[in-house]
Amino acid sequence: VTPERVVIVGASLAGLRAAETLRREGYTGPLTLIGAEPHLPYDRPPLSKQVLRGEWGPERLGLRRGGDYAPLDLDLRLGKRATSLDIRSRTVSIEGGVRVPYDGLIIATGAFPRRLRGVPDLEGVCVLRTLDDALALRAALERRPRVVVIGAGFIGTEVAASCRALGVDVTVVEALDAPCVRGLGPEIGALLGQVHRDHGVDLRCGVGLAGVDGAQRVERVRLQDGSALEADLVVVGVGAAPATEWLATSGLAVDDGVLCDATGAARAPGVFAAGDVARWYHPLFGDTLRVEHWSNAVEQGVAAARALLAGPGKAEPLANVPFVWSDQYDQKIQCVGHPRPSDTLELVSGSFESRKFACAWLRNDRISGAVIFNDPRAMSKLRRAIAERATRDTLATLATA
Ligand SMILES: Cc1cc2nc3c(=O)[nH]c(=O)nc-3n(C[C@H](O)[C@H](O)[C@H](O)COP(=O)(O)OP(=O)(O)OC[C@H]3O[C@@H](n4cnc5c(N)ncnc54)[C@H](O)[C@@H]3O)c2cc1C
Repeated sequence: VTPERVVIVGASLAGLRAAETLRREGYTGPLTLIGAEPHLPYDRPPLSKQVLRGEWGPERLGLRRGGDYAPLDLDLRLGKRATSLDIRSRTVSIEGGVRVPYDGLIIATGAFPRRLRGVPDLEGVCVLRTLDDALALRAALERRPRVVVIGAGFIGTEVAASCRALGVDVTVVEALDAPCVRGLGPEIGALLGQVHRDHGVDLRCGVGLAGVDGAQRVERVRLQDGSALEADLVVVGVGAAPATEWLATSGLAVDDGVLCDATGAARAPGVFAAGDVARWYHPLFGDTLRVEHWSNAVEQGVAAARALLAGPGKAEPLANVPFVWSDQYDQKIQCVGHPRPSDTLELVSGSFESRKFACAWLRNDRISGAVIFNDPRAMSKLRRAIAERATRDTLATLATA
């Protein structure tokens, strides 16, 4: 049964791709797209890269190809935050007390940066998630501040690389033993740490944060080893949490993300979720996964829209292999799959010394994931191998030159 009225909450990557899919696949009814930010949907990956380095302005970031929204015929409500959901009356409430009814709802509210407990709200302490965050940070970097980045995940390390590209002094503080350990594992994380040191980053790993001091502006970051770092700017990059606060009273099942089946259906009639906010059951890994990657937001946005149009029980489950990239200096890093810390790492091709290689993660003799440095051809082969649940004995066939 074709829904009479569809509402999408979250006007970014997953939300826009869902809207485009609904129209492309024949939905002609009213389509409301609600977004908390004042901007039309824009791309986030360049924020920590080209935008911080001052190479791209906001005009390069639009997510709608060609920029023409007219064919989508959207009831676009930008700068409006959804405040609650009522799954019984099937309405979304937005700021200002307006209630928007739906038959089909796609939740695509993404994630927001985690804050650090104990870090006071001082001037000069910031996070990076939105275009406005990036433009403010970019402007601050022009004053050539002493920067401390807290957290060496992908965002923190990309910010550090952009600082060095601008010749700005940067110290990175990471409680774990190496950067990006969750994505890369300890060995490759250590290699990435060396890349940053080679570019002049003062990288402090294995040390926790003791406090951030200042009167009105930030002045100093104290570490648990007793050392202190003078700072004009502190960028907190300690991960993101799903934007589900507006669903708190809805009765919808939420557990670190909106719980969904393998088609994106949440546990209420007509409700779906996609992208960073969603935790889908993944048939390939036999587990629920919340993935904070660009390609996943696209794939789930498309799949949730199709599932909504197909009707209950008629949609195909999605078994997309997670994929994320990170660009730092001249290094192209790619991670695929869903490895666990207990999985073992094996070199498939290349070498650590040359900084061009592909490594696979193995669990119970099957390829569960891969990390690739500077060898994009290896990525597609390994991604396919993971989708096919390939075993260790196929690794030799996956080596690029
Ligand atoms: C700086 C940065 C760099 C990145 N680089 C990479 C990269 O190199 N590679 C990669 O794979 N991924 C990268 N990512 C991750 C990627 O951008 C995200 O996975 C992707 O944006 C997720 O899309 P989404 O639509 O699910 O959520 P989001 O893009 O987070 O969009 C959610 C939208 O919903 C809005 N919203 C939230 N709550 C409400 C509400 N209550 N009502 C209305 N609207 C609401 C938000 O304001 C936001 O605009 C990066 C992310 C950031 C922040």
